[in-house]
Amino acid sequence: MEESSYWIETLGCPKNEVDSEKLVGVIESDGLVRADGPSEADLVVVNTCAFIEAARRESVDTILELSSRRREGSRLVVTGCMAERYGKELAESLPEVDLVAGFGCSPTFALGAENGVAGTKTVAVKIPNRATRTRATPERDGLDARLGSFDLLELPRPAPETPWAYVKVAEGCDRICGFCAIPSFRGRQRSRPIESVVAEVESMLEGTEKDDGRGVGGIKEIVLVAQDLAAYGRDRVAGADGFGPDATTRRSRGQTAQSEPIVSLTKEISKLVPRTRLLYLYPSGLTDELVDTVVSTGVSYFDLSLQHVSRAHLRRMRRWGDAERFMEKISEIRSRDSGATFRSSFILGYPGETESDHQELLDFLEVAELDWAGFFTYSREDGTYARDLPDQVPAELAMERLRECTELQDAMTAFKRDSLVGEVKEVLVDSPGVARSVHEAPEIDGIVEVPKSLEVGRLVDVVITGSLGTDLTGEPVDGSRFEDRDARSGSGD
Ligand code: SF4
Repeated sequence: MEESSYWIETLGCPKNEVDSEKLVGVIESDGLVRADGPSEADLVVVNTCAFIEAARRESVDTILELSSRRREGSRLVVTGCMAERYGKELAESLPEVDLVAGFGCSPTFALGAENGVAGTKTVAVKIPNRATRTRATPERDGLDARLGSFDLLELPRPAPETPWAYVKVAEGCDRICGFCAIPSFRGRQRSRPIESVVAEVESMLEGTEKDDGRGVGGIKEIVLVAQDLAAYGRDRVAGADGFGPDATTRRSRGQTAQSEPIVSLTKEISKLVPRTRLLYLYPSGLTDELVDTVVSTGVSYFDLSLQHVSRAHLRRMRRWGDAERFMEKISEIRSRDSGATFRSSFILGYPGETESDHQELLDFLEVAELDWAGFFTYSREDGTYARDLPDQVPAELAMERLRECTELQDAMTAFKRDSLVGEVKEVLVDSPGVARSVHEAPEIDGIVEVPKSLEVGRLVDVVITGSLGTDLTGEPVDGSRFEDRDARSGSGD
């Protein structure tokens, strides 16, 4: 296997990207090297997304495209959410695929003698004539052993090539949102101990070039992700790592104040890197202490998972909150930091959504002045509470509502971006000519265009000189803080 090479394609969200990096760790530890492209690889892996219908279509299109581009004799492996959720169906409908591997199964098994399929509830083994037979759960164990079963969350990963990295701190979710199938195939929340997350960040820092004292080198930003990040750690029993029930439960039991695990984790990570960013915060989990902690790290970025704002409609979604409470939270945060950045996502056309619910959302977008927002039409998913609800909204109407929200928010985003022109911002140079301030999360928000001469991995002060849609332009400030620091150390201060 020493001379073999691999290619991995990742679809879906940042959480999947972390999984892919960990799979790369497994594949490379099996002796494979990265190929220059899918057509040159012995092993082609597609890490799929099964979140909604559109994501599944994209996953299948990618599988078929890579299958047509791969070279003869190579092996094609499908892993990730689709493999876990629809393993058997995928194996049956896509004869091009050599192995469908559920979570925690090594893709390199496809290079071995036997091809197979492993899912959570059933196991299907592909036999050489490409027919597929399924086996019941008890027989999974033997196959898992041969597939190399592992826990993706705790696997080591290679150092990132960018000056920032996602770190997944928990898997699964304990909530019951009506539209969401994630808990059905990712399971209940399972948080990593703080020590384990800290160790992962430390090992990534050790694996990268150190900061050279001028702000060049090293990882500058860690982006913490989980399905329900604010609830991180609540599933762990109080013990050596100090985890326990959430603050409300503790208060009701008359227990003394103790920080939420996400607060402790954020504080620990921010000791290691200049920027710690949190993605996917369920709004009820945003305690005052968490807000204060986020603001104190210097990355006042709040990615609030709102999904809608109409109280009646949120209850149909089996979610917490309403427009008034959300505005209260946002105003409270702005009173602590007027420059805080807000992102959210919303679903249009969930069953039962009325014109008045929709109008409430439009009104909210007007007054909340979010910096960023993503809009999605409802996708009717198997295994969800909403699957068979009455009052399904016609697809065209959902799309029309999505267009209205997008139009309104695009104008709001442009307005918010314009308001930054003339300000001085510290940016992190991600790649030549491309940087981000604290207002932009990697990959989902806009960027700050900077001169290509600025070194990648450097934190540098720029004055924002222009804005176009989602993107800004910036020019380095004369005597930025690094030159200042050099001058100070030169003068013996
Ligand atoms: S909180 Fe997020 S992951 Fe959990 S059930 Fe709701 S939508 Fe799904």
